[in-house]
Order: sequence, then structure tokens, then C-alpha cells
Amino acid sequence: MFNIILFGPPGSGKGTQSTKLIGKYGLKHLSTGDLLRSEIAQQTPLGLEAKNFIDKGQLVPDEVVIGMISTALETNPDVPGFLFDGFPRTATQAEALDKLLQLKKTSIAVMLALDVSEEELVTRLLKRGESSGRSDDTNESVIRSRIEEYETKTRAVADYYNQFSKVVHLKGEGSIDEIFNSICEEIDKRK
Ligand code: AMP
Repeated sequence: MFNIILFGPPGSGKGTQSTKLIGKYGLKHLSTGDLLRSEIAQQTPLGLEAKNFIDKGQLVPDEVVIGMISTALETNPDVPGFLFDGFPRTATQAEALDKLLQLKKTSIAVMLALDVSEEELVTRLLKRGESSGRSDDTNESVIRSRIEEYETKTRAVADYYNQFSKVVHLKGEGSIDEIFNSICEEIDKRK
């Protein structure tokens, strides 16, 4: 199995690049944001709990997202690998993911981190909010909270994988295709 984490703040292009990457490499896309939005749309108890956090721009509790990822790993036994997008977002989630992958006798090959300036992130998210239908993209103070959560809780996840020399930083500004090509170059070196 070949597993990668696409990492970066909200608005760094993880979703856009994930769609292109799964087309090219056939990996199973696991986006905790997408999984949570689907739970909200179905009005499940998990979705209703998560919505309170998402609407404020806060992270959903670790046990909720770890449970979702654990289920997704179990229900996809025969894929060539996973592309994690928006997960892990805390050190606790990273440790839990390592344990879950160990049980499957696999691991993370590389974390690809997209670097984008804060002002560019806010501009992109507000623009996305015009058409995404996501209420957390339309309110600037919610956007700033999401970036703050990234700075205080999520950035440390890169330190976690850095211990194992698994982090590669890439420029997340430029054209979608330029960024895609730089990501593919890093994947191809390791496959
Ligand atoms: P995203 O689509 O990845 O930007 O996620 C949207 C929102 O879902 C985030 O602002 C969080 O509230 C929540 N969320 C998504 N993934 C996670 C995660 N791994 N841990 C905690 N909260 C998450």
C-alpha cells in the first residue's frame, strides 16, 4: 500500500489537488471534512454534534474523526493506498493514524505540505464561499478561526512526521497544474 497525507491550512488547495491525484494514482480519497459534511447532510447524531464545531471554525473532537477514519480504513481493504486530506489535524490524530495503519501492516510514505500565505488563504476561501455552499467559507471571522486552529493545533502534525523525515514542503501558490506537477514529482520519487 502507498499512503500519503496532503497537508496544509484551509484553502491551501488540498481538495482540488486530491481530486487530480486520485485520478492519476487510483488512491482512495479520505477527506474528514467531506465525511463530516456528508454526516451533516444526513442529519446523523455525529453530524449534528460536528456541525456545532464546524460552524464556529473549531476542530471537531479527536475521537469523532478518528472513529470515522478507522471505519473508512476497515471498509476499504483492497485499495492500492489512501490519500488523507484534512486528517490528521492534531498530534493525537497522527498517533492514532499510525497505530491504525500499523494494524494493516502499512504506514505513511510521505506528508506533502502545501505552503500558502495567510492573506492568500482568506482571499481564496471567501471566493470559494461564493459558490461552495459552505457556510464556514462565507464568514471572515470563522475563516480566521479555522486558520488559528491550524496554527495552534494542526501545524504540530508536521513536526510529528518530521521526526521520521516524512515531510516535504511545496509551494501552494501558482497554477493548479504547476502545483500538481510538483506533488506528482515527489510521489513518483517514492513509488
Ligand atoms: P475541511 O473541509 O478539511 O476544511 O474541514 C472543515 C471543517 O471540518 C474543519 O474546519 C473542522 O471543523 C472539521 N474537520 C475536518 N477534518 C477534521 C479533523 N481531522 N479534525 C477535526 N476537525 C476536522
